[in-house]
Amino acid sequence: MLNIRVERTTTPKAKPAPGQKLGFGHIFTDHMFIMNYTEGQGWHDARIVPYQKIELDPSAMVFHYGQTMFEGLKAYRGANGEAYLFRPDMNAKRANNSNDRLCIPQIPEEDFVQAIKAVVAIDKDWIPTEPGTSLYIRPFIIATDEFLGVAPSKTYLFIVILSPSGAYYESGLAPVGIWIEDEYVRAVRGGIGFAKTGGNYAASLIAQVKAHDGGYSQVLWLDGVERKYIEEVGAMNIMFKIDGKIVTPMLNGSILPGITRNSVLFLCRQWGMEVEERKVSVDELIEAQKSGKLEEPASWRRSSAPAPPPSSAPWASCATWTRS
Ligand SMILES: *Cc1c(COP(=O)(O)O)cnc(C)c1O
Repeated sequence: MLNIRVERTTTPKAKPAPGQKLGFGHIFTDHMFIMNYTEGQGWHDARIVPYQKIELDPSAMVFHYGQTMFEGLKAYRGANGEAYLFRPDMNAKRANNSNDRLCIPQIPEEDFVQAIKAVVAIDKDWIPTEPGTSLYIRPFIIATDEFLGVAPSKTYLFIVILSPSGAYYESGLAPVGIWIEDEYVRAVRGGIGFAKTGGNYAASLIAQVKAHDGGYSQVLWLDGVERKYIEEVGAMNIMFKIDGKIVTPMLNGSILPGITRNSVLFLCRQWGMEVEERKVSVDELIEAQKSGKLEEPASWRRSSAPAPPPSSAPWASCATWTRS
């Protein structure tokens, strides 16, 4: 159980107006949670403070070798005005799996959840109410030792920031064009694909830019060895319905174990649907589509958008990519 010191802002910011387009991850609330780790002392100085910049030495280890992890979940406002979180204990467990892989000290699950609940409670009025909106919660840890050697840091910061957000994808729930990437890979077994960490995203940018240039909005990743089996899409897991069964790539160490994935599979099984977690190849999907067994996605077809250009000068392309 954390002893959290609270310092409230004396200059609250204007909240987004009802109906204002929020986008994703642009707006931040009045407060943040922050806690330090020091070797020998453990996690300490849990506090909620006004949202503010943090000061780090240029040699802070996170900048150089990427020892960092993050989580992502949402708070929703219920009909009675109360804040609801969706399975935050699962995020706490996954955070510690990421921490273990990255040699970051664990945070007790109940402390992780307590920190989130405390800061969400303080900024509860920032939870948007329009359909399709929520308060996005971003817990993360960074390595802060001032040292250029390669080793696990002995000091860290754990921070939770909150961002009232709309849909993650500009197009909302409308179908989007997906580019199946067979040049670059996101992760390999034995690597850090199952951990929620910046490095996986740094590795993914180039293919994302390539897909955008070709008129596609998302990248579907294939396995890093044979580039034949489906892994996941951008920042989400993927499922198909083939011949009446729900089929999804099995967790193999290179796929991020999504809490949405876990929840959907649980519900499908509860409802008596047949669920298969196994290898799924692109060839299998094409075959299933040809024989009429691919039920979902129902509108599967080859896009008429041109293949993305080869990434001969990737930086030129990266630099001109405008974000939504
Ligand atoms: C966060 C994330 C997901 C989805 O996880 P949820 O817990 O369902 O939100 C899927 N893939 C990647 C690469 C992710 O970072």
